[in-house]
Amino acid sequence: MTANTDIQFLKGVGLKRAEILKSKGIDTVGALLRLYPRKYLDWTNITLVKNAPFFENVCLKAKIVTPIETVETRRGITIYKFLAEDASGRFSVSLFNQVYLANRLNLGSEYLFYGKLDGSFVLRQMSSPIIKEVNFGGIEPIYPSSKNMTSKTIEKLIKTALSVAEIPDVLPESIRKENGLCDIKYALENIHFPKTKESFERAKKRLVFEELFCLQVALSVIKLKNHKQSGCIIKNNVFEEFQKCLSFELTNAQKRVVLECIGDMQSGRPMSRLIQGDVGSGKTVVAAALCFVTAKNGYQSALMAPTEILAEQHYKTLSRITENTGIKCGLLTGSLTKKQKTDIKEKLKNGEIDVIIGTHALLVSDVEFSNLGLVITDEQHRFGVAQRGKLENKGVNPHKLVMSATPIPQTLSYILYGDLDISIIDEYPKGRQKIDTYSVDSSYRTRIYNYIKKFLNDGRQGYIVCPLVEENEELQLTSANEYYQKLKNGEFKGYSLGLLHGKMTPREKEAVMTGFAKGEIQLLIATTVIEVGIDVPNAVVMLIENAERFGLSQLHQLRGRIGRGEYKSDCILISDSDSPDTQKRLEVIKNSSDGFKIADYDLELRGPGDFLGNRQSGIPQMRIADIFADKKVLLDTKKQAKQLLQSDPQLKLSENKHLRQEVIDLYTKLK
Ligand code: ADP
Ligand code: MG
Repeated sequence: MTANTDIQFLKGVGLKRAEILKSKGIDTVGALLRLYPRKYLDWTNITLVKNAPFFENVCLKAKIVTPIETVETRRGITIYKFLAEDASGRFSVSLFNQVYLANRLNLGSEYLFYGKLDGSFVLRQMSSPIIKEVNFGGIEPIYPSSKNMTSKTIEKLIKTALSVAEIPDVLPESIRKENGLCDIKYALENIHFPKTKESFERAKKRLVFEELFCLQVALSVIKLKNHKQSGCIIKNNVFEEFQKCLSFELTNAQKRVVLECIGDMQSGRPMSRLIQGDVGSGKTVVAAALCFVTAKNGYQSALMAPTEILAEQHYKTLSRITENTGIKCGLLTGSLTKKQKTDIKEKLKNGEIDVIIGTHALLVSDVEFSNLGLVITDEQHRFGVAQRGKLENKGVNPHKLVMSATPIPQTLSYILYGDLDISIIDEYPKGRQKIDTYSVDSSYRTRIYNYIKKFLNDGRQGYIVCPLVEENEELQLTSANEYYQKLKNGEFKGYSLGLLHGKMTPREKEAVMTGFAKGEIQLLIATTVIEVGIDVPNAVVMLIENAERFGLSQLHQLRGRIGRGEYKSDCILISDSDSPDTQKRLEVIKNSSDGFKIADYDLELRGPGDFLGNRQSGIPQMRIADIFADKKVLLDTKKQAKQLLQSDPQLKLSENKHLRQEVIDLYTKLK
């Protein structure tokens, strides 16, 4: 039996269980072996009753010293109670409705009890412990179980699989030696059934390394594949000319990043680059510079944004900058009329439009280019590798640039964007005002409203981010509406207010945003739709309701809507949560304005899944590695993957045979 054998043919599986396993994505024997335990019960680490901490899982070895007493509660629950003791002390045990277990236990016999102690020091007590015979010993794996498949069943199947399956080792021996890692057989045996803590650690170390290493090799392969001949070579570096179109001087960081990109675009190979820059660092103008250079060299560019509002804003910015330069910009979004779309597509195809800005609408198959040279995506983890690829395929190996709207920790960028080179804009435009951030509870609300009015009276503008009541969009909408009505007819009567939420049609949003940008709307009540990239420098105050509901990076991103001009800005967070965790998070956002640092905290506090918001974020699910805790391994594997590919770029050597297969599998998943 091999790792690829269909799970159905493993002894003890059969059709029905095969179906259950397959529904969990476990199709093969190999996949079953890669279903690692969720946790372990350590039956070897026995604590004395006297020393056992409260409220933590402990394993006690104790003798039953009183007969089992049965108590019926009025609600019909049967409780079995008895005392047990070891040499150091005694504790009381309660079992609920577990008649089968209760009947098996004998007065005077010794057992192992696994569970949490509570009660008092006079009489400790343990409710519903797991109980085993004293000779049980060992570390017991607990698997993610479901109604129709228990952890025990999975355990048995894995035991069988371990004894019959030949599992190839994807790590070449040289790599294992160099890093002091055990082989795959030992690793799998000990991740499932560790004999000791040490053997578990050895197994885990190897599997974490393997997971990250294979990923890094796969990402590097993608990167190497990108090194084809580009269909667009920049000959005229017209960056100087571009800068003359601007009303401000670019920051050194912006200049450096533009030059890095132009360097790539002159090289003959397609650029694959990620620009990371904190909110407000000025990424759009960098994109504009590259579109300009591309157009002046006779090629088209496409700039794809995650929302219509943002696409429209970019369109305006680029149109303004390229006015009187002979460059023609176009906008393509879902909400254009059919006729408008046809017209734009026609112009794209015959080369009349040099720079097209749009949303997903750009990905549609009938959008064709005459000679696409540069593809830029302004994203917030919103476009996966596959989607980006769709746009790139509309040209002959065009240059590609990804702009990450949220700073992400280095470790994550290595995984999400491992196939890209990275440039960082680490400087803000001159004259930026610091944003002061305060965090208060809702008893301050009226005072804060008055504070906001002062700004409005001075001619400035502001945002209020609505309370986040429900996940449900309909209810969100109702509550945003109600909140808006309440402010409009109450506290902010006489001021001009606008409402912006995700359910509005693009045209309605556009109308509100235009009103806000022109200053006709003084105070914008909004849901998190304003999170992405909106730029109104006169807006200088922001109130965020229910701040505890937001991730740190999201708060930072929201806050980035203010402090964009010459005026000092204030951000006020309202939260009634007194959980220490929330307090800690709000403290971080209050004291730091560095998006990278905040992102690092966020990742640490919430873990990568939550950090990115959802599954479809493009990040591969990690089976065992934790990209935060295993940061060092991640960096090591990146280096080693590169070295390996330098010495054996095609993974043709026989010792790399199994790795090659694994990488091909991963590659197809990532692409
Ligand atoms: P982000 O990096 O968050 O996308 P934007 O590109 O929206 O930032 O830029 C934020 C604001 O800063 C815009 O109003 C833009 O015109 C302005 N800006 C960008 N670069 C400079 C600069 N070098 N000097 C002055 N203002 C700039
Ligand atoms: Mg932006």
